[in-house]
Amino acid sequence: MSRNELTRRKLLAVASTGIAATRVARPAASSDKPAILGGQPVRAAPFPSWPVIDGNEERAWMEVLHGGKWNRLDGDHARRFEETWASTLGAKHCLATANGTSALFASLNALGIGPGDEVIVPPYTFVATVNVVLLQHALPVFVDTDPETFQIDARKIEAAITDRTRCILPVHLGGSPADLDAILEIGRKHHLPVLEDACQAHLAEWRGRKVSTLGALGCFSFQASKNLNSGEGGAILTNDTDLYNACQSFHNNGRGNTGSGFGYVRNGANLRMTEFQAALLLEQFKRVDQQSRTREQNAAYLTKQLAEIPGIAPARMYSGATRNAYHLYMFRYDKTRFANLPRSRFLAALNAEGIPASSGYTPLNQEPFLKHTFDSRAYRAVYPAKQLAEWVERNHCPANDRLCEEAVWFTQTMLLGPRDDMDAIAAAVRKVQGHAPNLLERT
Ligand SMILES: *Cc1c(COP(=O)(O)O)cnc(C)c1O
Repeated sequence: MSRNELTRRKLLAVASTGIAATRVARPAASSDKPAILGGQPVRAAPFPSWPVIDGNEERAWMEVLHGGKWNRLDGDHARRFEETWASTLGAKHCLATANGTSALFASLNALGIGPGDEVIVPPYTFVATVNVVLLQHALPVFVDTDPETFQIDARKIEAAITDRTRCILPVHLGGSPADLDAILEIGRKHHLPVLEDACQAHLAEWRGRKVSTLGALGCFSFQASKNLNSGEGGAILTNDTDLYNACQSFHNNGRGNTGSGFGYVRNGANLRMTEFQAALLLEQFKRVDQQSRTREQNAAYLTKQLAEIPGIAPARMYSGATRNAYHLYMFRYDKTRFANLPRSRFLAALNAEGIPASSGYTPLNQEPFLKHTFDSRAYRAVYPAKQLAEWVERNHCPANDRLCEEAVWFTQTMLLGPRDDMDAIAAAVRKVQGHAPNLLERT
């Protein structure tokens, strides 16, 4: 887990510790002393806690426990969840998996991605998107980020394609759809399958269709922080029966059927979801649409407020994006409009005001572990030294480097409360801006 993912999860943990209390948004008078300098915070109450449960989760969990069928080969919860999720998204097939990483891992296997192949990925994503490519001993090729949307810059994908490219792996980062019109068109033109990493994009839509169903395959995560959550969990969506069968077999140790026998048709792994996970998901699923609508309404309201503040640029959506899952609320911070207050100090000041905020990802394409991986015996056996040396040249992502310096994130749970919460967030940003010169003197 990257340092930033850790920070994000810590923030989430902080946001989850409190019970729902009365939320009071104080108006930010310019004379108010910043909380980081000992003044009153804009907000004292915690944001909504996560996960949300009631007696139904408890009942569902205990039913599996006492029923004794804890494995999907015996029970029917995983199958029922697959049917529910597939029909909700409008996909022909859904395969539940142990987590999002294993969903992506099985999908790349089904597509036959292996040593020597290049896979196009964004540098602005959670590390799992890239780790699954490395698990296949394939080469991740990073395409720079569109800083206005925080998504892979589709205008730069074609220049990264070579005769070794085998797959395009866009991420719908933060729950906002990547530019699927452009990406799918490039895929068609170059005969490359598109694997959608929708791990943050539950119920997000592109031109009215659910993301994950537009590419060859799409993957979800149900990890604890995600908008649909069973602690750990994942799913693969596809309309292609052959790809579904390949994923199904791979995730069940290469078996030729859905059972527990000893007939194998390919290599594989055990990536199966448990009945406990599926039982929780069937209950959590009942909230996902409403929660998603609440996030969308709050985010739209917050964007209107923040966009009026000089130096704050909320992430833009592509025109084809008809629904954003808002797993993250992301914006760019321009310190020159805040008396050159460094982002770290801005974040500290916001956190002191009772608004948890974090700095988000660091540039994945610059992670030292990539070079260590390419130095391994396996990579040196597959790739000519010249190709690995060229990789370094090919993987400059200047727009992403800059975005990683400017980004600010709020977590999805902060969008689940009443509209007052959005007023408090905007008030805190305005308060910090109003006092920025004072805050600078103290750094
Ligand atoms: C969470 C996530 C994953 C991995 O999912 P896990 O369930 O944690 O394995 C992959 N890609 C992205 C973009 C994610 O956010």
